[in-house]
Amino acid sequence: MAVVLALVAAPVGMVLMFQLNLIRMRGELRIYLEQVAQTQRLPMCLNCGYDHQGLTSDVCPECGKPLPSPRNGSPDI
Ligand SMILES: [Zn+2]
Repeated sequence: MAVVLALVAAPVGMVLMFQLNLIRMRGELRIYLEQVAQTQRLPMCLNCGYDHQGLTSDVCPECGKPLPSPRNGSPDI
């Protein structure tokens, strides 16, 4: 019985650790993109990924979310 539990628990634990790692990396990427969006106008919607190059609207035409706008108009380099 203990051997069966060990054989089942090890792969399940590995899958859970992998999934938790993906969630952590996704969160870190989102935080990074939000920080970049505060200083630069990214040519994409952070909600749906719609390319909004050339648009003059402050709202995404695909999902209706407000598009990120630069805080001071010039990127920090
Ligand atoms: Zn959108």
